[in-house]
Amino acid sequence: MLHKPSPVFDRISERVAALPVIDCHEHMAGPAFMPVVHEPIAALILGYLSSDLISAYTDPDTLLMLQDPEGDTEKKWPVFEAIWKRTEHTAYARVTRLVLRDVYGEAAMSLAALRRVGEQLAARDAAFYVRMLDEANIHLILSDVLHWQPDDLRQFLRGEKTFPDRVRVMIQLPFFHVVKEHDISARDWEGVQLIGRCADRHITSLDEYLQAVYEVMAQAKARGAVGVRTRARMSGRCTMMSRPGPMRSGSSTACWPTRAPSSGWPDAKPLDDFLFHQYMRFARELDLPVQLHTGHMAGIYNRVDKANAAHLTTVLELHQQVRFDLFHGNWPYMDDLLFLIKNYPNAALDCCWLPIIDPLYAEEMLERAVVTVPHVKVHGFGGDYVDAPEYSAAHLKIARHVIASALADLAERGWLDEDAALSIAADWLFNNPNQFFRLGCEPITP
Ligand SMILES: [Zn+2]
Repeated sequence: MLHKPSPVFDRISERVAALPVIDCHEHMAGPAFMPVVHEPIAALILGYLSSDLISAYTDPDTLLMLQDPEGDTEKKWPVFEAIWKRTEHTAYARVTRLVLRDVYGEAAMSLAALRRVGEQLAARDAAFYVRMLDEANIHLILSDVLHWQPDDLRQFLRGEKTFPDRVRVMIQLPFFHVVKEHDISARDWEGVQLIGRCADRHITSLDEYLQAVYEVMAQAKARGAVGVRTRARMSGRCTMMSRPGPMRSGSSTACWPTRAPSSGWPDAKPLDDFLFHQYMRFARELDLPVQLHTGHMAGIYNRVDKANAAHLTTVLELHQQVRFDLFHGNWPYMDDLLFLIKNYPNAALDCCWLPIIDPLYAEEMLERAVVTVPHVKVHGFGGDYVDAPEYSAAHLKIARHVIASALADLAERGWLDEDAALSIAADWLFNNPNQFFRLGCEPITP
């Protein structure tokens, strides 16, 4: 695919393909949450490909028609065929091709192939889910899924909700913020009291709210959560390190949401920024690493000027005792990210999602990372899909290829010998995240 066949690449690739993996970022909760799809086109365009389909001049209603899990394949096919031909060479589409080939045994997209795929969809069951992850050699999954289902955070904290053995959950901070990113968040009365209920409290002040959040984070850690995932608003995140003015004056209840309508952007930003820094202090006190989004965003109509992790510099400078795991390779701002990772002892590079955003960029970034960044600071893979394990497995094949390609290139240039290349791959894919997130697995040697 990316690397010309060569004896060095073939040897490294074969050994990288056999390494066990700690998957640093998914949105997986277990087989019960696997999307049930009875129609093959819908089954083959799960996940990110829909963004490319829309980008390739597909109107949203047509996409909805294609995504219908019960639709009529014969009717969908002429529409889908035309759109597929417009976007079949992107890395998102490559995931679909790998699923088509490796899960369903079909070499190419055609109506006949789709009919045969349709006959196999009933076998997408719990055993299929586990088999996909086993065959991909995914040892552990760090999953960002807590609080996605109503009441599951409260149940998790009480020990009533559990996840599969392979899954380690992250604490999702966006729900604890006041600027809305999800339907549930602390932007209004209900959202605040929902978090209060998780800590058996009725919230009447900002101080009580913060105490509840701290208790939730501490209890989640006690139940097995291994870190925090959040998203910094890249522009001017460090503006508000103390309480916003209205909250300093008067009573502590002065500026906290009541049943009145919630405030939005930009009114809520000072409070949101204050909460962000407070949560970083909680992460420090609880020794929880923080996963931060950088670079490209899911979906479409996103702003490239907001994406650069360079805007996070003040966060990395301020919270020096927090370990930050920076996501997605900061695409397309590679140089800025390499600077940050090289420069800040509290920042690590997490390649989740990156090999299917841009595999050539990922390959170049990893190659340059070897010569610029201590290799213990790279976390090699995160699928970043929902409960569609065949997609994560296909993504991992691309990621292993990207890693082998970058390391083989350095071996062929004489920078690394092949044993060193394999040792780096094992660290990237397993040993580094194992240590960074304190997962307690036995380290691997390739
Ligand atoms: Zn994600």
